[in-house]
Amino acid sequence: ATGLVWLRRDLRVHNNTALHTALQQCERVVCAFVFDQDILAPLPRADRRVEFIRESLVELDNNLAGKLVVLQGRPEACIPALAQELGVQAVFAARDYEPQAQARDAKVRENLRALDATLVLVKDHVIFEEREVLTQMAKPYGVFTPYKRAWLARLEQTPLVQNDSTALLHKLVAKPPGHAKAVPTLAELGFEATNLQQLSIPTGESGAQQLLANFVDRMGRYDQTRDFPAVKGPSYLSVHLRFGTVSIRQLVALAQEHCAQGSPGAATWLGELVWRDFYFQILANFPQVATQAFKPEYDHIAWEQGEHAQLLYAAWCQGRTGYPLVDAAMAQLNQTGYMHNRLRMVTGSFLVKHLGLDWRWGERYFAEQLNDFDLSANNGGWQWVSSSGCDAQPYFRIFNPITQSEKFDAEGKFIRRYLPTLAALGAKSIHAPWLAKPLELNAAGIALGENYPLPIVDHATARARTLQRYGIVKKAD
Ligand code: FAD
Repeated sequence: ATGLVWLRRDLRVHNNTALHTALQQCERVVCAFVFDQDILAPLPRADRRVEFIRESLVELDNNLAGKLVVLQGRPEACIPALAQELGVQAVFAARDYEPQAQARDAKVRENLRALDATLVLVKDHVIFEEREVLTQMAKPYGVFTPYKRAWLARLEQTPLVQNDSTALLHKLVAKPPGHAKAVPTLAELGFEATNLQQLSIPTGESGAQQLLANFVDRMGRYDQTRDFPAVKGPSYLSVHLRFGTVSIRQLVALAQEHCAQGSPGAATWLGELVWRDFYFQILANFPQVATQAFKPEYDHIAWEQGEHAQLLYAAWCQGRTGYPLVDAAMAQLNQTGYMHNRLRMVTGSFLVKHLGLDWRWGERYFAEQLNDFDLSANNGGWQWVSSSGCDAQPYFRIFNPITQSEKFDAEGKFIRRYLPTLAALGAKSIHAPWLAKPLELNAAGIALGENYPLPIVDHATARARTLQRYGIVKKAD
C-alpha cells in the first residue's frame, strides 16, 4: 500500500517518527507539506518564519531526492484530496498539542474517514506526552520541580528510540503528476525576503546540526554562561525545535551522554529541555491557558487600559522605555526575531509589573516577532512573568530592570550592541542614564528626551502600584 506522510513541524529526514513509521508500514511513501492559507494570511508580508520554513523545505526536498510535494491551501481539503488521488489508506503525521492544530487535525481525520482512510498521529515533538508523566494520583503536574524529577526517572527507564530511516528511503515514490512543481519561491507564496540570511541564521537540518556542533563545545559551561546576554551561552536551537529541523530525542540523548560524564552545564541544559515538555503538557492538559490565566483569580486583575496604556505598549514594543536593558532587548527581538531568555523575563516582567499591562499583550507581540514562537513555551513564559501561571514567579517579586542590567550585562556590552546611541556611556551609567552627570551625558553625545528617552515610569512608583494591583490575588497565593 501507499502511505502519505504529512510533514508539519517536523521538517527533517533523520529521526523523524512519522516518516519512519510510514516507511516501515507501507510499500510506497509520498511526503507532503501544506502552506496553510489560514496561518499565512494574517502574517506580515516579510516574516522570517515563512522564509525559514521555505529554506528548510528546499533542503528537505533535496534530502528526499526531489520527491516532496508542496501544496498551498487548507489542509483539511488538500490532504484528503491528495490521499484520494494517491489511493492511500493511511496518512501519517506527528501529533501537535496546540488547540487550533488539534481542531485542524480533527477535521482532516473526519474528511479522511469519508474516504475510508485514517490519520495516524505519532509522538515526535516531545519526549513525554501529557498523560505520560503524572502524579501518583494520576493527575497532571502543575509544579515544575516534582515534574522534572518524575520526568527524569521515567527517562531512566525509557531508552530513547532514534529512528533511522535512511535504509528505507528507496520506498519514496516520485511526485504524482500535477504536483511536479518545486518548492514555491517566497514571491510565489506572496511574501518578501527578510534579513534571515544577513543574520546568518542557518536553516534546515544541516543548520540545526551546525548549531548543535558549535554548542557541544560550550555545553559544559552552559550553567555559568546562560544568563548573560552578551555571551554566546545558549544553543540558539529554539527555532529548529519549533520547526522540527532537529529531533528533541537527539538533543536529550546528547545531554544525557554529557550528564553521565558529570557535566554540570549539560544537566542544566537538560533541565531546560524538560521545561519545554512541561509547558507542552500544561497546554495539552489545560488548553484554557491559551486565553486565560492558569490561576483563575489572576483574571480579576485590573490592567491599565485606554490611550495612555496604548502609548506605554507602543513604547515597549519599539524599545523606547528609557530603561536601556529593556530597550536593547526589544531591539534584539525586532531586529533578529530572537531574544535571550534572561531578557524575555526582564522585558516580560517590565510590561506587566512596571507598565501594568495585560500579559496577553506581551504574549501577542512575542508571538508575532519570535522566530521560535511556540504557543506552549510563550504562554508558559508570559504566565510565569505575570505570576498567573503554574510554578510562576511570586507576584510580589518584581524584577528591578536596573539591577538586572548591572548583574547580567555589567559592562553594558549587550546594551551597546543594540543601542549604539548609548555606546559612549561608561559601564556605571549605562544601566540608568538619567542618573548620570550632565557632563558625562554631554560628552557621550546623549540628550535625554531627544536622542534617548527618559524613563517612562519610575521603578519605585511602578512597584508600589503593582503591589496594589496584585492585592486582589494576595489571599489566593
Ligand atoms: P537554550 O538555552 O539553548 O535552551 C534549549 C532549549 O530548551 C530551547 O531551545 C527551548 O526549546 C527549551 N527551553 C529553554 N528554556 C525554556 C523555557 N523557559 N520554557 C520552555 N522551553 C525552554 N521558548 C520558545 O521556544 N518559544 C517561545 O515562544 C518562547 N517564549 C518565551 C516567552 C517568555 C516570556 C519567556 C520568559 C520565555 C520564552 N521561551 C520561549 C523560553 C526561552 O526563552 C527560549 O526557549 C530560549 O531563550 C531559546 O533560546 P535557545 O534555543 O538558545 O535556548
